[in-house]
Amino acid sequence: MSKLAEVAVDVKHPAVKGEYYYMVPKPLKDKVRVGSRVKVPFNNLIVEGVVIRFLEPGDMVPDFQLKEIIGVDERFVLPQFMLDLARKLASYYATNLIDFLKLMLPPSVSLQKEAVYTTAVEEIGDIRSEIQKEIFRVIRDKGPATVDVISETTGLAKPSVRNALSALMKKGFIKRECRVKSDISQFPKSGAQPVSYRLTFEQARVLEEINKNMEAERKPVLLFGITGSGKTEVYIRAIERALARRKRALVLVPEISLTPQMMERFYARFPGRVAMIHSGLSRGERFLEWYRVYKGDADITIGARSAVFAPIKDLGLIIIDEEHESSYKQMEFPFYDARQVACFRAEAEGAAIISGSATPSVESFYRAVKGEYIFLRLTRRVSGRPLPPIEIVDMREELKSGNRHIFSRKLCSEMEAALSRGEQVILFLNRRGHSTFVLCRDCGFVLKCPHCDISLTYHSSDKSGRCHYCGYHVKAPDTCPDCDSRNIRYFGAGTEKVEQEFKIRFPQVNVVRVDADSTSRKGSLQKLLSEFKGGRAQVMIGTQTIAKGLDFPGVSLVGIIAADITLNLPDFRAGERTFQLISQVAGRAGRGEIPGRVIVQTYSPESSAIRAACGYNFKDFYREELRCRKKFEYPPFCHMMNLTFTGADQDLVRAAAEDVRKILEHRISSLVKILGPIPAPRFRVKDNFRYNILLKSTEPERLIEAGDVLKNIKNLNRKVYLTWDMDPQDL
Ligand code: ADP
Ligand code: ZN
Ligand code: ZN
Repeated sequence: MSKLAEVAVDVKHPAVKGEYYYMVPKPLKDKVRVGSRVKVPFNNLIVEGVVIRFLEPGDMVPDFQLKEIIGVDERFVLPQFMLDLARKLASYYATNLIDFLKLMLPPSVSLQKEAVYTTAVEEIGDIRSEIQKEIFRVIRDKGPATVDVISETTGLAKPSVRNALSALMKKGFIKRECRVKSDISQFPKSGAQPVSYRLTFEQARVLEEINKNMEAERKPVLLFGITGSGKTEVYIRAIERALARRKRALVLVPEISLTPQMMERFYARFPGRVAMIHSGLSRGERFLEWYRVYKGDADITIGARSAVFAPIKDLGLIIIDEEHESSYKQMEFPFYDARQVACFRAEAEGAAIISGSATPSVESFYRAVKGEYIFLRLTRRVSGRPLPPIEIVDMREELKSGNRHIFSRKLCSEMEAALSRGEQVILFLNRRGHSTFVLCRDCGFVLKCPHCDISLTYHSSDKSGRCHYCGYHVKAPDTCPDCDSRNIRYFGAGTEKVEQEFKIRFPQVNVVRVDADSTSRKGSLQKLLSEFKGGRAQVMIGTQTIAKGLDFPGVSLVGIIAADITLNLPDFRAGERTFQLISQVAGRAGRGEIPGRVIVQTYSPESSAIRAACGYNFKDFYREELRCRKKFEYPPFCHMMNLTFTGADQDLVRAAAEDVRKILEHRISSLVKILGPIPAPRFRVKDNFRYNILLKSTEPERLIEAGDVLKNIKNLNRKVYLTWDMDPQDL
């Protein structure tokens, strides 16, 4: 009897996406295995799929003639633990298996091969040709060498190299082999020398706890260490320990391109043992890095969120650096949170997990306080340099005394002073919020939702403020409800404007602007950063991309132009983001010999997030934030799921959303609160209209059930596209 395989197939349409049975034809019998990537016919197409199991006697099969698998990628099979992980994720996020299997597969590329020459004997004794002798020596010293390499090393033209090579082969002195072509070996060219420090007292103590835990119960660790306290060094030591126990490590970072210095340290400390998976690689390079991990040739895999799907065997340690970063969340289909995936992996594969940050997420902090995580702290900078003082400038006062500019007088005079001393300045403007909010410039009043405690988004079409969680809306006032002032404004500013105003005041100073627009081209970010680092620009103006990771010793002054923009994001994490922003930005000042200072401009100096950040008083911040989260029912006191309906016909989209709301009301637990449907914060995107429904529940299982209901809705209008995002970030 022929073998029958169940295959998760990669088809687009959600209605037919799923797992199907196929026959394994005789010639492929020994090649197709569980975890194999295969090609199968589907309707009139040939599609890719992954074999997830073979059928066994007694299994039910349909009684029509099954189609046959028509091809198989023989280079690898996904290991069982990855298939199990895909199953776990498909269930948690209510998707199809293939959606996660696809993230685990390497790119389908056929690799280019090249011929290389190696020696077949130790010596070639007495032969006449000097050319042949020289080439033999080159091959012997260099190892496998291509014609190109030999020609470059000897300076001989390629035809004469080829002639000599074939003569040497005929005599049996060398052999010719094939290998997969790769330019990977070129890029980890780290000039950095591995440095090994004597750990500080704090580092040593933290490391001891980590090692003890790795050997024992492997409870998740939260490493709360201020910027510059030596967290990376602790990671490196913990990895050394894991490798010594013949385990492998996974290091997740928010974004590779922003952490070049950290990457160099890993390359230098673990030469030849690091695989780096990132978006800068070509498809071929990605396959090769993936393959090295798969074969067990790399002991340490480093990458951004997608690296969490690397097929690492014997995984012993997972490190999540800057664990509070929202870039760990994939915000498009298939939605997932790499931190959650890492937790599932750690649990299933018996790995330890360390989450590190100078500003842990409120959720992680809460778990640490509750004792679900081991809570470790690094409280001092290795350099011994103090954190820079942070000064708040009250922009209401500026206005009262007649200054209507973007820059306060304080910031201006500090900039003048720093620039005249030849020091560097970073000006920081968060423009992530695409929405504007309503603010009184006299008293700082901001229009907020009474039910959700988030800022209302200003809609110019009907001059209203709207809550995009629950739909609450009011007419935007002409005068301030608190102080009667008519100085009420719709707030939102861009980096370009800051740049313009800066240039008017300091026409002779060189500025670089680093934001999404100026860095959309590949490599342009690195160029701008090195321009600043090299001192060709004295001032950098940018968005939050520059808040993290980077080390510029020449910077003595950091200014946050409008902390209000982050503080009034229409997001329950607005306070948390503000606290993180100020703390991270402060970490950029005074890294070198010059002492640093930070200036924060705001209309809400009394906000607890701003006050706590400016006083480095993280305890106050977390206490107050947790109190609010509890009161308004937000994570960590509840779980959330955000549904998005998208389509070109606004009425159809809204109707579909209303229908789904009714289905949910009937079919899911009353422990789930349903908010909406309401127009999405970005209501119109590329001629499509979008509506949201927000689900909240104290029990994650109830939301998983809701996801399942959504997955099985069959009669949703075909012109409306529905996604559901579990544990949403940046709502
Ligand atoms: P973090 O990751 O917490 O911001 P790093 O690990 O990058 O901190 O350390 C900050 C700086 O201190 C780095 O330049 C690092 O090389 C250096 N460093 C770390 N540990 C030590 C140590 N024990 N002795 C001397 N220098 C150290
Ligand atoms: Zn007012
Ligand atoms: Zn609301």
